[in-house]
Amino acid sequence: MIIQLENDINTSQKEAIKSRIEGIHYMITEVNTQRNNYLVCVGKADFDIRSIGNLPGIRDIHRVSDDYKLVSSKWKTRHTVIDLGDGIRIGNGEFTIMAGPCSIESEEQIARTIEHLKANNISIMRGGVYKPRSSPYSFRGLGIDGLKLWHDMASKAGIKIISEVMQVSQIEPMYDYVDIFQVGARNTQNFNLLDELGKVDKPVLIKRGISGTVDELLYSAEYVFSAGNEDLMLCERGIRTYERSSRNTLDINAIPILKEKSHLPVVADPSHAIGIRRHVTDVALACVIAGADGVIFETHEEPALAYSDGQQTLDFGQSEKLIKMMRSTYDLREEFAI
Ligand code: PEP
Ligand code: MN
Repeated sequence: MIIQLENDINTSQKEAIKSRIEGIHYMITEVNTQRNNYLVCVGKADFDIRSIGNLPGIRDIHRVSDDYKLVSSKWKTRHTVIDLGDGIRIGNGEFTIMAGPCSIESEEQIARTIEHLKANNISIMRGGVYKPRSSPYSFRGLGIDGLKLWHDMASKAGIKIISEVMQVSQIEPMYDYVDIFQVGARNTQNFNLLDELGKVDKPVLIKRGISGTVDELLYSAEYVFSAGNEDLMLCERGIRTYERSSRNTLDINAIPILKEKSHLPVVADPSHAIGIRRHVTDVALACVIAGADGVIFETHEEPALAYSDGQQTLDFGQSEKLIKMMRSTYDLREEFAI
């Protein structure tokens, strides 16, 4: 059960609500986000919800049978929209494209990418400055100096930044220079990181873990929400299966399922899912048809020279074509109300 409290609730009203809930032996967790105050109540007893809902100080009350609560669509039926400012919104009727290189490499590369994005009306650029690499000898990112340079150039061009944060100690130094924190597939269950991102007033995109289930992704989002941050989006990026013909197996099913189970925007990452450049376009379009609110993909002026993930990175010509096709496909989806 979730109870949303009135913002001006007083202490004695809150105590009265809590003692009524304790009376039915439910465990209470108080959640105070940047916008709202909730009591998340977990228990087994059957009770008449009206006996609690009538108490003063309650704005809204719902039973939520899912184990994740605040991110569940059983609690909030309206889809969440994330507002990045400057008219840029993600979710519910907006189709968002985020594109850029796997890794931020140089001033020249940032400039070329920004030019490409501007020419195609894309306002969110992706790129890693902290790179989780399987081998410690691979390029591991330009770090905070690279992020500052990128931010300087992107903000002048009116471009927002999404970049991966790998550990708690990076949150504070990154804070002023990113618009969206990305939690990578290797960190989906880094609960300390998720807790700390809950204290931040910037949106968070959470990727599905490499071997994580849909429910585990939702629990990860619940961590961030219950620690205080409601501005979340979920990302399907492929999971590891027994199939070896592609980098990962895109779980296309997860897109409509997540959209049904949760009110959060759902984004798809075809680049890391299939991992093969010539197939990224087909897979990206499938994600749009499946109902994704957005797609994040990798692009580079010269993919063959990219410091990381070149094999799955589109060149600017391919990227431009994909952007146009995704927009037309999205319009088609809307037209037929799929
Ligand atoms: C990335 O976005 O470059 C990345 C490392 O993604 P993932 O965490 O999905 O592997
Ligand atoms: Mn990558």
